[in-house]
Amino acid sequence: MDFTLSGESKMMVKAARDFAEQEIEPTVATVEKEDALPDDLLQKFAKARMLGMMVPKEYGGIGSTTVNVVLILEELAKTGSAAAFLMAFCNSVAETIYHWGSEDLRKRFLPPLCDGTNYPAMAFTEPGTGSDPTAITTTATPDGDHYVLNGTKRFVTHGHKKGYGVFYAKDETERITAFMVDKGSEGYTWSKPWALMGLAGQGLVDVFLKDVRAPKEDILGEKGKGFYILLRWIAGERVQQMAFMVGMGQACLDESLRYAKERMVRGRALTAMQGFQWMLADLHASIEACRWWTYRVAAKQDEGGDIEVDSAALKLFVVPTIQEVARKALQIHGSYGYCRDYKIERLYRTIAHAGVTAGSTEIQKTIVGSALARSKGI
Ligand SMILES: Cc1cc2nc3c(=O)[nH]c(=O)nc-3n(C[C@H](O)[C@H](O)[C@H](O)COP(=O)(O)OP(=O)(O)OC[C@H]3O[C@@H](n4cnc5c(N)ncnc54)[C@H](O)[C@@H]3O)c2cc1C
Repeated sequence: MDFTLSGESKMMVKAARDFAEQEIEPTVATVEKEDALPDDLLQKFAKARMLGMMVPKEYGGIGSTTVNVVLILEELAKTGSAAAFLMAFCNSVAETIYHWGSEDLRKRFLPPLCDGTNYPAMAFTEPGTGSDPTAITTTATPDGDHYVLNGTKRFVTHGHKKGYGVFYAKDETERITAFMVDKGSEGYTWSKPWALMGLAGQGLVDVFLKDVRAPKEDILGEKGKGFYILLRWIAGERVQQMAFMVGMGQACLDESLRYAKERMVRGRALTAMQGFQWMLADLHASIEACRWWTYRVAAKQDEGGDIEVDSAALKLFVVPTIQEVARKALQIHGSYGYCRDYKIERLYRTIAHAGVTAGSTEIQKTIVGSALARSKGI
């Protein structure tokens, strides 16, 4: 067991911190106002070698590790911006296409995800369901060497931006198949972005598929096995989402500490009072526990282990813990914490997202609980 970061990882953390300060922080106010990330951000991520991190170099990637992605993400997340999510999302979708894609699919779809010219998408949720795979109603009907897709996909991150997305539909056998769909296809339209509580610029749209054609050769993985692709992707996405939470939790503590050292109450800084010191200590201990567990699951992913249950258990712990960190951090700020001028207000809203995306908290409990119930040897 080795708890030290390699020299390469340390350099990546430093580069990510600089990137966050120079490229993300200055855009935050505009992103909040316009609810859109800067158009050139993806290219900047590519230039900074933060895309295709888990994709081998021969397909345009970096050939790095999940642990390094998590470390970078944690730094970017301290901004509390959806920009960090964009980096995570691009990396997890690219890794998924690498893992399941044929050589042809890898060669065609990975380079544009690594050089920042294409936005990915992962479209499963529908108006009728997000958690129940049996309830999806989007259909894929064979027609010559194509499938024809019809249906509505809900909450599709970057569904309206240039590139290809992985779309899940029921094929003629009623099983779920994953299709690579060109977002510029005829019959592909979208709604205006949903207005979210936090995560400004996330770009969440509904996508309407009307006789959209996808070549049979562009099926990702095996026909009828799409749900396994989704499950594996979500498990990896959860780890990255928890790194996002750890970074934002750390930002909550940093903001609180700065504020508490300056805020005078009855002639003394808040930090002089034992009650506040204890509150800060609680925040620190909570974040450290979340951080190291996140690293551990990321390392297991790099070792090639199955992280379905580990990532679900991780999420069960990290989400309420960091949400409580955000609540206490807001409390330390007094009424200022409830004001938009203070970063803690945005962090609080953004941190609220994690229990209902990438698999809800209840679904994580089911994954972990049913695995325990099935386990042998006790
Ligand atoms: C910021 C953000 C980004 C997103 N990005 C994407 C994206 O890119 N692609 C995409 O496809 N989707 C995306 N989503 C959608 C998201 O993944 C789904 O909304 C989520 O999976 C939950 O589905 P639902 O909202 O339909 O809730 P439902 O499935 O209707 O669940 C409602 C409630 O019932 C509970 N519940 C459901 N089933 C069970 C059960 N069996 N046992 C116990 N409790 C249960 C849930 O936990 C929840 O509390 C995004 C959402 C957000 C907010």
